[in-house]
Amino acid sequence: MENKEFNLHDVVEMKKSHPCGTNRWKIIRMGMDIRIKCEGCEHSVLLPRREFARKMKKVLEKHEE
Ligand SMILES: [Zn+2]
Repeated sequence: MENKEFNLHDVVEMKKSHPCGTNRWKIIRMGMDIRIKCEGCEHSVLLPRREFARKMKKVLEKHEE
C-alpha cells in the first residue's frame, strides 16, 4: 500500500504536474485546507484536504524535524 501520510514542509508529487512542467510541490500550510507551492515557479494552490489526498501521488521528501 502506498504511503499517503504527509506533513507540513514535505515535498510531494501530484497525479498531474503543474503546467510549468514541474511536479514537485512543497506543503506550506496544513489545516482544513492544504496549501502547496510549486517548486518550479513558486505558484501556490489551496486545496481542501480531501481533494489534496486524492490528487497527491506520493511523498518525495519527508521534512526532517
Ligand atoms: Zn509551476
